[in-house]
Amino acid sequence: MRKKVLIIGGGYGGIRSARALEKHPELEVTLIDSHPYHYLQTDVYDFIANKTTITDISVSLITLFYGSNVSFLQRKITRIAPAENKIITACGEELSYDYLIIANGSRTFFPSFVEGLTEHAHGVKSIKRAFEFKLKFEEAIYKKVESEGTCSLNPDFNIVIGGGGLSGVEIAAAMAEYSQRFFAMGGYACGGICVYLIEGSSDILNGLDGYLVKKSRKRLEKLGVNIITGNRILKVEEHCVHLSNNMTIPMNFMIWTGGIEVRKIEGDGFEYNQRGQLKVDERLRVKGFDNVFAIGDCAEIVNLDGKVLAPTAMLAEFSADIAAHNIIASKDGKNLKEVDFELPGVLVALGGYFTAGIIYGIKLSGFIGFLAKQMVSHMYKWPLIRQCKKALAKSCHKG
Ligand SMILES: Cc1cc2nc3c(=O)[nH]c(=O)nc-3n(C[C@H](O)[C@H](O)[C@H](O)COP(=O)(O)OP(=O)(O)OC[C@H]3O[C@@H](n4cnc5c(N)ncnc54)[C@H](O)[C@@H]3O)c2cc1C
Repeated sequence: MRKKVLIIGGGYGGIRSARALEKHPELEVTLIDSHPYHYLQTDVYDFIANKTTITDISVSLITLFYGSNVSFLQRKITRIAPAENKIITACGEELSYDYLIIANGSRTFFPSFVEGLTEHAHGVKSIKRAFEFKLKFEEAIYKKVESEGTCSLNPDFNIVIGGGGLSGVEIAAAMAEYSQRFFAMGGYACGGICVYLIEGSSDILNGLDGYLVKKSRKRLEKLGVNIITGNRILKVEEHCVHLSNNMTIPMNFMIWTGGIEVRKIEGDGFEYNQRGQLKVDERLRVKGFDNVFAIGDCAEIVNLDGKVLAPTAMLAEFSADIAAHNIIASKDGKNLKEVDFELPGVLVALGGYFTAGIIYGIKLSGFIGFLAKQMVSHMYKWPLIRQCKKALAKSCHKG
């Protein structure tokens, strides 16, 4: 009898593990997601800055695995009963498994101690939120254009980005670059969209290499982004943000990228860290359960040197490879792999044709960096699109 593998989450980790296990006909693999698409969060900065459309940042999960050894099921999972090898959907359906991969990612963490943050700031970790924000941004640009004749009376249009990590920096750069170029393109005089990037720690891109921090800072300053570091956001009101240095910034809208938390799926006997990430061993098995693996943002992944790895799409994919390998190995009674990889590096998109990055120790910036980022992005997306096209051709043929 074929062993059943269930994968919760069709993000970077879930898709990668499904594609690895797809090649094993002795397994019955089901990928489950509450949405029918894979959201390419890593490319969202261009989407909200109005340069790309929804089809540039999503791939259909229904088509992707059509006619393959992987079935796709659109369901929200609300509970895991590992003692019974079952997961339970929001509508009460029970699905059984021999092996389970939990890859349900993370969402934006809105700290409750920042008054007004949840009510007045947007996150971008779901397509819905990113889309709502994009619409607001577009509307703001329209209003600016409409008021060309009077804009000198009211020149300020402020966008505040809370959180100077990778996503905050990329969004700030994309919006600043786009709004500058947009007004120039139409020959408009008004411009005047100001982007503020607020970071609580002493510098942006906390924890990343000094080279990236320096290059990103320089580029953001050149784009006119107002960077405020070492100051926390204390309170958010509908039209202003209050900082710990007593500064008040008037704002038209705000994006919050200041942290993540895991959408916990209840699981009897699971251990979690403070962010709600599942504790896993060095083979990515959820502690206490040999047939349950957790990968990507939802897991606290520690390398063999004891270092907790930062949650990124790259980590989700690398950890997916290990989980897929370990499912095959445990089924065949072979040795399991440990988390012994080095992540190749990081690329920070900084608006227009400019990216700074370090890949395998090589420092890149400007247009070369941009080409590298484009290549990484295309190398990720195109195999998925190719697979979708093949599936569509197959379904038309059948039809
Ligand atoms: C603006 C931005 C820029 C970024 N830039 C980079 C970058 O340049 N490089 C990089 O490496 N990383 C980047 N990241 C981080 C990266 O996007 C995440 O680390 C990555 O998405 C994690 O992958 P994942 O598979 O763990 O989860 P996700 O990709 O978040 O996928 C989780 C999936 O699980 C589904 N799901 C959740 N709960 C349930 C449930 N209960 N039932 C069913 N389905 C469920 C969701 O619908 C989702 O499809 C960026 C993130 C943001 C927001």
